[in-house]
Amino acid sequence: MASRKKPIVWSIAGSDSGGGAGIQADLATFHNFAVHGCTVITAITAQNSFAVGHVSVTPRRTLAAQINALDSDLPADVIKLGMLADEGVVSMVAKYLEGYIGFVVCDPVMVSTSGGELMATGVCECLIEKLLPRCDLLTPNLSEAEAILNRKIKGLDEIERAAADIVALGARSVIITGGHLTARNNERHDYWTDGIEGFWLSGANIDTLNTHGTGCTFSSAIAAAIARGYDLRDALVIAKAYVSQGLRMAVQLGGGPGPVAHVG
Ligand code: PLP
Repeated sequence: MASRKKPIVWSIAGSDSGGGAGIQADLATFHNFAVHGCTVITAITAQNSFAVGHVSVTPRRTLAAQINALDSDLPADVIKLGMLADEGVVSMVAKYLEGYIGFVVCDPVMVSTSGGELMATGVCECLIEKLLPRCDLLTPNLSEAEAILNRKIKGLDEIERAAADIVALGARSVIITGGHLTARNNERHDYWTDGIEGFWLSGANIDTLNTHGTGCTFSSAIAAAIARGYDLRDALVIAKAYVSQGLRMAVQLGGGPGPVAHVG
């Protein structure tokens, strides 16, 4: 058999029928980074630009069958985790990762910007206990970081402390995307740490309502850049640039906020 030249990245995440976030955003990102994307679909969401209308969590057998089909033939160089929906999904994914040695990026998806619940209540504890210790990088936004730590985060130094506390919970490293809290001088700042070193990553504050799928795209771009051989710190910078350009080029498609664009 010919040797494999194209890296393989799995996305274990939910489907967004509106095509802006979840699996659909992940595959668009993987395509632009020239990595091959495989998918383990954890849930099917019926959503448009206004709202998440319906969520159907993938049956356990179907979830296991997807993982097994890929594992036996298309092993992942990097795995990206997105919407994990409920405890059953988190437990099965955590079990699989026990025997996986590649890089794992986890976007702890909880609630969509449009307000839809993408993770059942009480699942956060399970994620912390079972999954965090297997994550090389966690990419929470501010409210996800608050949910993980069960406290409010109010200032820049609190973000630094929160990131260190999330690493102390078991993740190998974390980048908290600061959003509105860190928007100043027309810039936005995200904070990364592995518990030993830490730095702020700055980018332009792009004034747009079309931000759907930003978190999914950021974590997928990091996963893809890692799969392409970039060092983690470089992968963060590349992913931030990819998302920034996607926000600049984003357009409204339906009646509500549009999706981040995928600029190759
Ligand atoms: N739908 C799915 C399936 C997702 O995985 C995500 C990701 O966070 C979202 C919706 C939410 O997207 P956003 O909050 O960027 O609008």
